[in-house]
Amino acid sequence: MRRDPDALAADLAALAAAGRLRSRRVVERVRAGGTDAARVVVDGRELIDFCSNDYLGLARHRDVIAALAPAAAEFGAGSGAAHLVTGHSLPHHALEEELAAFTGRERALLFSTGYLANLGAITAFAGRGEVVLQDRLNHASLIDGARLSGARLLRYGHGDAAAAGRVLAERDDVALLATDGVFSMDGDVAPLPALAPLAARARAWLLVDDAHGLGVLGAGGRGCVAAAGLDADAVPLLVGTLGKAFGTFGAFVAGDATTIEFLLQHARTYIYSTALPPAVAAATRVALRLAAAEEWRREHLWQLIARFRAAAAAAGLQLAVSATPIQPLIVGGAAAAVRASAALREAGFWVAAIRPPTVPEGTARLRVTLSALHRAADVDALVAALVAALATRAPAARMAKR
Ligand SMILES: *Cc1c(COP(=O)(O)O)cnc(C)c1O
Repeated sequence: MRRDPDALAADLAALAAAGRLRSRRVVERVRAGGTDAARVVVDGRELIDFCSNDYLGLARHRDVIAALAPAAAEFGAGSGAAHLVTGHSLPHHALEEELAAFTGRERALLFSTGYLANLGAITAFAGRGEVVLQDRLNHASLIDGARLSGARLLRYGHGDAAAAGRVLAERDDVALLATDGVFSMDGDVAPLPALAPLAARARAWLLVDDAHGLGVLGAGGRGCVAAAGLDADAVPLLVGTLGKAFGTFGAFVAGDATTIEFLLQHARTYIYSTALPPAVAAATRVALRLAAAEEWRREHLWQLIARFRAAAAAAGLQLAVSATPIQPLIVGGAAAAVRASAALREAGFWVAAIRPPTVPEGTARLRVTLSALHRAADVDALVAALVAALATRAPAARMAKR
């Protein structure tokens, strides 16, 4: 695109006309602590937040917050440099060891975000002249990692391990197979027990991005890879993020010692980016301990998920096949999803409308996420509000649904 302000304005107008203009809402206050912790104040109004990824409520946990100030006093507000320069401090190092133990891997390497972890891992393990194979509904950071790597990106149908297997059987140049563990916009889980042996037989790296499974799924919240009984041999590259169930910020890749040392030496997003603040690592250590130890958070979450699904089904709402805290309601058209989201906000609920290109054309949705911060009564009230918000859909939106 040449430098042309009119072209930018035209692009923005086209986005707005298509109902695709994204906007931010300013959170003015969060009710940290206490029993109303899922509530936030936006535009002067209190809303129950049903779209955060703080699945266990740890972002607002007193002990996690309290870990920040003393660590900042000791190590500074920021790390001051990349890990390989002077930015790698004691809290980072201890957190890496604890993440390795938590995931049952020899080593873990911290990255500043999950986006950077995926870019770094894929570009380190795949390159020009090779193929990266991915699920069609993978997170954008996995897709972008493949693009940046220079490898050819091939995609298989969502959750279709047999289709992935056919590609792996036909070609000898697939360097890496990548999949979300829990799909971020759909809430379903990848067919890992089928994918792992296929990747191993083809001698392709298998990368599982369990951003939404770690802390939530499996015994002790060890994620969908552990729940499927898959070790570092079956899943050599396990990516986790720290900004979701762990409630803080950052990400990591876990694997065996040689794999992780190779990643440290070659991942450009690791080498050339400032280490996350040591205080954040210190707070994450507390969050990790709580996530592993406090089974009641997960038990409460499972009860809320079951309650939501039963109530929504009884009310005639079309649920997705998700058994995780991500519970999308497919609306169809982007404008209809935005309208439903606005109606919910009027009723006191914050539920994000997710539109293309984040999700495929014609599958705009309300993405409800449940958290251990919610109460049963919050979920019941949400279902009633969803029924009302979706009933007021305009006729044009109904037609766009198919
Ligand atoms: C959120 C997310 C990421 C990105 O993690 P950040 O730490 O937010 O950059 C990567 N993969 C998946 C599947 C995600 O949901």
